[in-house]
Amino acid sequence: MGRAFVYVIIGGGVAAGYAAHEFVKRGVAHGELCIISEEPVAPYERPALSKGYLLPEAPARLPSFHCCVGTNEERLAPKWYKENGIELILGTRVKSADVRRKTLLTATGETISYKYLIVATGARALKLEEFGVNGLDAPNVCYLRDLADADRLVDVMQSCSGGNAVVIGGGYIGMECAASLVINKLNATMVFPEAQCMARLFTSRIASYYEEFYQSKGVKFIKGTVLTSFDFSSEGKVTAVNLRDGSKLPADMVVVGIGIRPNTSLFEGQLTMEKGGIKVNGKMQSSNTSVYAIGDVAAFPVKIVGETRRLEHVDSARKSARHAVAAIMEPEKTGEFDYLPFFYSRVFTLSWQFYGDNAGEVVHFGDFSGHTFGAYWINKGHLVGSFLEGGTKEQYEAIAQTTRLKPKIEDLAELERQGLGFALSV
Ligand code: FAD
Repeated sequence: MGRAFVYVIIGGGVAAGYAAHEFVKRGVAHGELCIISEEPVAPYERPALSKGYLLPEAPARLPSFHCCVGTNEERLAPKWYKENGIELILGTRVKSADVRRKTLLTATGETISYKYLIVATGARALKLEEFGVNGLDAPNVCYLRDLADADRLVDVMQSCSGGNAVVIGGGYIGMECAASLVINKLNATMVFPEAQCMARLFTSRIASYYEEFYQSKGVKFIKGTVLTSFDFSSEGKVTAVNLRDGSKLPADMVVVGIGIRPNTSLFEGQLTMEKGGIKVNGKMQSSNTSVYAIGDVAAFPVKIVGETRRLEHVDSARKSARHAVAAIMEPEKTGEFDYLPFFYSRVFTLSWQFYGDNAGEVVHFGDFSGHTFGAYWINKGHLVGSFLEGGTKEQYEAIAQTTRLKPKIEDLAELERQGLGFALSV
């Protein structure tokens, strides 16, 4: 049994949704495009899962956050795919891929062939078991990557109201979940091995601001140590978290956010890999010319930093998707992807944006005891990265534009004095 399509996308996440939108904008014919997704729902804006989805009052629920509402564009509900002649195969995992024969085998036993393949398989959450801690089967240990995870987190949170939650990991999943736990009236303690939260991005000064803000909301921090084991009840629920420093934290629930691993396994040994992802060129094309990769799974040349990188951010998923479709459908008119890395988060009443690269020396600016502050990163005499908390739309646009221009910086003290004014004047 088999079907043939001109274009096939594996994965039904953010990148797939934006790619589908771009295909339709560029006039894909009915019956030419197929999307195969393991998830049971049409592509949606994944960041909603750690924000609106976890709110106790009026939480966001599908269909409200299907792609592409995250960029204020059309909302692509399942009906849209049908109307546009796109075959949306949901709840179906692709089991194997043969890039030489240009075929895919699904878990339902169907063979699907393609002329062009777009790999948009994203990433999976790293599990505690991979670090030697047992607990995967416990009903009150939660992860957060997909809708099923989010539903489970909501259920567990609601059943533990007033209780103790331990959050393992100090990255953005940990930070956003800790905020939601407090909003849902749980006592949250964050545990991570680094000396500060968001260690891959924040400077210690920026991290201190968020940690103090979180503490004012009741979140506790235990830094510089890791989880070693759980205590379980007779029903298999986690009742306490044991840390390497010897302490024990009582826990009614645990949320784990310890990083992700790109879903590349279908293509290991078939496509060139780099930085843990599928290596692509500036057209998002892999080492096999019929196969493209987009989103979290793609390692692409980030021109502005002069390096191949794999970015785990929603904006990169959206834009790399659009670029790949343009490169496939209009190759002569499509140049190299020229992407300015962008990442953001929203927690409690706070909201920050980051553009570029956090390399080199740092100049902080603004009012760290108030609401609007930020930082610039200066590498080899040029401004390469910008961070801003509490900015207006215009201010965020200004730091993005300034970072893209990579202006030469001769006097760091002067840059510090000008602060946000520098970006606004460039
Ligand atoms: P995904 O959106 O993960 O989609 C991958 C899809 O592929 C899934 O549908 C999966 O089921 C499917 N799939 C995988 N393997 C197979 C297979 N073999 N067969 C069929 N289907 C398969 N980024 C930000 O910049 N800001 C944020 O605030 C932010 N918040 C986030 C909050 C959460 C809770 C999460 C999980 C991520 C967040 N991100 C954020 C990151 C952002 O969502 C990702 O970068 C983005 O979703 C990547 O898109 P993608 O399409 O590459 O992967």
